[in-house]
Amino acid sequence: MAGLTPLTALKGVGPKKAAILAAEGIASPEELFDYFPRRYLDRRTICSIGSLRTGESTTVVGRVVQARQEGTGPGRMRFKAVLDDGSGRIELTWFKGVRYFASSLKPGDELAVHGKVGFFGSQAQMQHPDYEHLSGNAAEGRSDYELFHTGGIIPLYTTTAAMKQGGLGSRQLRTIIAGAFSRYAPGGRENLPESMLREYALMPLADAYREIHFPASPERLEAARNRMKWTELFYTQLLFALRHAHLERNSSAPRLTHSGPIAGRFYETLPFDLTDAQKRVIREIYRDLRRDRPMNRLLQGDVGSGKTMVALFSMALAADNGLQSAFMAPTEILAVQHYLSLKRSLHPLGIEAVLLAGRQPKRERQEALAALADGRATVAVGTHAMIEDAVSFSRLGLVIIDEQHRFGVLQRKALQDKAGSPHVLLMTATPIPRTLTMAGFGDLDVSVIDAMPAGRLPVETHLVAESSKNRVYDVLHREVRSGRQAYIVYPLVEGSEKIDLRSAVEGYEELSSGVFSGLRLGLIHGQLSQGEKDSVMERFRTGDLDLLVGTTVIEVGVDVPNATVMVIEHAERFGLAQLHQLRGRVGRGKHASSCFLIHASLAGEAGERLQAMASTSDGFRISEIDAEIRGAGNVLGREQAGMVSGLKLADPVRDVRLMEPARRAAFALAGDDPELRKPEHAMVRSWYMRHYHARSTLADIG
Ligand code: ADP
Ligand code: MG
Repeated sequence: MAGLTPLTALKGVGPKKAAILAAEGIASPEELFDYFPRRYLDRRTICSIGSLRTGESTTVVGRVVQARQEGTGPGRMRFKAVLDDGSGRIELTWFKGVRYFASSLKPGDELAVHGKVGFFGSQAQMQHPDYEHLSGNAAEGRSDYELFHTGGIIPLYTTTAAMKQGGLGSRQLRTIIAGAFSRYAPGGRENLPESMLREYALMPLADAYREIHFPASPERLEAARNRMKWTELFYTQLLFALRHAHLERNSSAPRLTHSGPIAGRFYETLPFDLTDAQKRVIREIYRDLRRDRPMNRLLQGDVGSGKTMVALFSMALAADNGLQSAFMAPTEILAVQHYLSLKRSLHPLGIEAVLLAGRQPKRERQEALAALADGRATVAVGTHAMIEDAVSFSRLGLVIIDEQHRFGVLQRKALQDKAGSPHVLLMTATPIPRTLTMAGFGDLDVSVIDAMPAGRLPVETHLVAESSKNRVYDVLHREVRSGRQAYIVYPLVEGSEKIDLRSAVEGYEELSSGVFSGLRLGLIHGQLSQGEKDSVMERFRTGDLDLLVGTTVIEVGVDVPNATVMVIEHAERFGLAQLHQLRGRVGRGKHASSCFLIHASLAGEAGERLQAMASTSDGFRISEIDAEIRGAGNVLGREQAGMVSGLKLADPVRDVRLMEPARRAAFALAGDDPELRKPEHAMVRSWYMRHYHARSTLADIG
């Protein structure tokens, strides 16, 4: 079909233009049809310059009234233009491509510009806006500017500088695409079953292609975009659905039907009652564990919501059924902490736990391995040191992975492979919005702990300029005087470990000989040996240290309820998820807690992140903001990002209304026809094989 036709077969496309397009990955009419506009100009939704507000990203349309180059020499040159739309004027500045602008932007030109609005006094400004020429020339008939003012909807395509200079602006692309439409029918092969189009009132594919490129009305355009988003969401969910169906049919796990004395006694010995959310989640897990299909569940809960408790109950149930559990954590500090809490809570009930961490004395490790292999030990807690070949279990039934986002698919799989098909519980303290969960973890069942233990006071968050740090030191002194403890964290960024480590070590030395000379300080970072780390953590845990200075090694999981202040140095260098995790180290007990984000500046994205931290403590909201700032793929992490990279139009955070039914439709179809063999699904099968099958290994998670 059209896929094999070269673009030069189209009117207006010679070898030169074809080469420019090919460099953008457009080599056939089919790829041209799939080159969707990035934005539309629609008079009904465009802002007037007079009503702009600072900070908003927007598009304005107007006529250039001034244009000139300013400054000379490298780094000083800029091009400035003033755009007027009748309601007001906005100043546009470009620092790059100045010569190009000087030769192509003139007073009288009509432009659409898109960018972030700033103000200098009362003067609206945009720096480096994305722009589009709307003026036509006599030969082209009506210009886009006229079209815009008479209410037409004008698609704007992403056009690189090379494209623009080669005469391939949005306007020319539209002409070429229109030519392609008249020769080849895009979307001639529908990729969704007729019944689905009817049930969900979806626009047929061929119509959707036409409306995307040549919208007849805002409503038709919306319907077309929804149809395209549906296709993307449906097929990415189908990947998960098929994998889920496959697991359901092909693997069996031990049934944990016996809710016996260990779990029961554990419940009775708890010093507090479980929250309703914890109880609900434990019930969900117990229900999974009673089935003869492997559990594949993701447990989300904000930092401090008490996920470890849920893990302990799951392991207790496994023990009641004579099965071993493996509990893996991403850092040695955290593994040791879990190990100690297991010893405290489950050892008295007859559960033998062993620790498998990286730098362990050889004898201790040998003993642990033997106890697991012959079944004397019921629970193994450890880091990725647990996945080594030497580690084997006699009857592993449950695998729990804490802070699962810190592990790769292969590491998680390696642990699972130590049993036939064990039950798997993944835990994560970076909660992500529901739709993003579906987009990244669609083959997993999800449980959410959506409430904090009673009596927790929210952590007060303060943004503090570097220059007012002394204020924070006063607070630390006060807290320590009343018996509390605190963390002071320095950044540790990949690639600059050496410099960063120095800043933590120097910070520690400065503080302990300076402002905090009377207090007991500890230092912790990744370069210490396991023994040293353990002993520092233990001294902090038992109240032997007042202040713990360190790098982000304490980021995840660390639980010392008496610590009430978290100070983060150079907070602007941390990511949002990291900041949220760090803040989660305090506010874990009954004392009021606070978090100080010390920063050198609040400019740019870093400023947005810090403001977000100050504005909310809800982990779900924070990851939503993170997704807005950095894109959904980055929030999901490297592996799951593969699932959202297939989304061109659909947004896994914003398109909730489409995601849910698309997911339901995908699971219904896979449940009904797990091999896609039915004749009415032939088109689904062929589209899936062509566009999605190659990625099916990415769905192979869990
Ligand atoms: P996270 O979800 O961040 O892993 P933890 O499991 O570390 O949280 O729990 C945080 C703290 O809350 C721990 O000190 C734990 O003992 C305590 N905790 C857990 N559940 C409850 C509860 N139901 N009531 C009171 N405290 C609880
Ligand atoms: Mg935890």
